[in-house]
Amino acid sequence: MNSPYKASEFQNLIHGECVLGNGAELSVINPATEEAVVTIFSASAQQVDNAVLAAKAAFPTWSALKQNERKVILAQIAEITKANMNELASLHASETGKPMADAMFEIGATAGFFEFHAHVPTDALDPTDIPNSDAKAYRLPLGVVAAIVPWNFPMALMAFKVPGALLAGNTVVIKPAPTTPLTTLLWASLINEALPKGVINVVADSGDLGPILSAHKDVRKISFTGSTATGKHIMKSAADDLKRITLELGGNDPAIILEDADLDEITTPLFEAGFMNNGQTCSAVKRVYVHQSKHDDLVKRLSAMADATKIGSPLEDGVKFGPIQNKRQFEVVTELLNDAVKQGAVVEAGGYSPKGSGYYLRPTVLSGVKDGDRIVDEEQFGPVLPIISYNNINDVITTINSSPFGLGASVWGTNKDDINVVVNQIETGSVWINKHFPVAPNIPFGGARQSGVGSELGTQGLLEFTQLKIVS
Ligand code: NAP
Ligand code: MG
Repeated sequence: MNSPYKASEFQNLIHGECVLGNGAELSVINPATEEAVVTIFSASAQQVDNAVLAAKAAFPTWSALKQNERKVILAQIAEITKANMNELASLHASETGKPMADAMFEIGATAGFFEFHAHVPTDALDPTDIPNSDAKAYRLPLGVVAAIVPWNFPMALMAFKVPGALLAGNTVVIKPAPTTPLTTLLWASLINEALPKGVINVVADSGDLGPILSAHKDVRKISFTGSTATGKHIMKSAADDLKRITLELGGNDPAIILEDADLDEITTPLFEAGFMNNGQTCSAVKRVYVHQSKHDDLVKRLSAMADATKIGSPLEDGVKFGPIQNKRQFEVVTELLNDAVKQGAVVEAGGYSPKGSGYYLRPTVLSGVKDGDRIVDEEQFGPVLPIISYNNINDVITTINSSPFGLGASVWGTNKDDINVVVNQIETGSVWINKHFPVAPNIPFGGARQSGVGSELGTQGLLEFTQLKIVS
């Protein structure tokens, strides 16, 4: 099938100009068809340097603006994003494999995060007197921020970073992931009219620019979302000149189902939380610990939901999940699934790919799994959900707190006191009760242990884009 897109529509944004890349060839594959959406050229190392220098040159003027002046521009970005919703969402569906409804939701959320920052009170950025002293605290912007984004929510996760960075007075260079650069590039070309030159720059990457950008001496902060392994590389590249870092990394979130949980109430939201975006969500539920008295019933209900789910092309009506976003991730998920089966897991639903092209895997529910199996201990990041039976809640809590992952967790039950006893003992960045995942621009989000450093969003997230300066 001929793609409606032309390479010339997708250019890097550097110093207010849309420029064709002169780096490596980059075919962006539609994961539903395995055909190229379009083949472009990524930015070269020289163009990354140009982008950082453009951001650096724009910084003095941008940081000298009043917050309200910057907010006007954030509001304009939100408006332009909304005005181009359909065009952005259909491109987004083609490159990510998300059903149209999800793609529309993500573009809407992107606009929403800019909109939120256009109106948020920013008292936290104002100078404050320190009580019982002659000292005053100021919050200065840092300079050039590198925003490095993964492929699972390419636009929304960009919007976790950029509005806050800009509001605090920084300028940015955005690097999308190699499998999902297109929507970000198109969006950049659209919002460019609202931007002073160099305030936002975007460079397309075919897989070699991350280290170059994160080691660049003029980048003052790296705001990174991606895997724990890459987060460690970034921390090392940041070390030489002590760049500031915020790292949002992998998760292996447990949902704990207590003995008195009401399965009529919880099955649907639990299913949604496990399979949201096909399981390719940092804080999707990635393992379910259920009290043994409810295990069989829960497995039956989740499996029935999985079996009833329509998967298929993002453009088809009624489709709930599209394909896994890329071939490499498809292979990771299938490898973990096959390993689980070898270890004795029972495939209660799904477990296979429908015939034809595309990186599809039916939503899969596994029983007969245990701690120590790779599917339970590692981050599967795909549509496979292991269900583990327990009889002693203290063992579950010990397991969760000793995992290298510590992004989120949820506790599901009826008796509030019993729920709180568990919630109070869990050591993760977020804990939800009878729900899992909802994030909001005013609530900080971050991980414990190897799931991250620092947080994004909320006042906390905004302050991470600043340097504290004390004058006395
Ligand atoms: P990834 O492989 O770590 O890649 C993320 C981004 O980092 C890509 O743009 C990648 O580009 C770039 N990168 C790779 N090596 C780099 C280096 N040495 N220096 C600088 N940048 C580098 O992650 P992914 O597979 O795209 O995303 C899935 C992971 O993200 C999962 O583990 C998921 O849990 C995590 N995630 C976390 C959150 C959160 O908020 N905590 C949210 C969403 C996703 P290249 O591919 O070109 O190297
Ligand atoms: Mg897991």
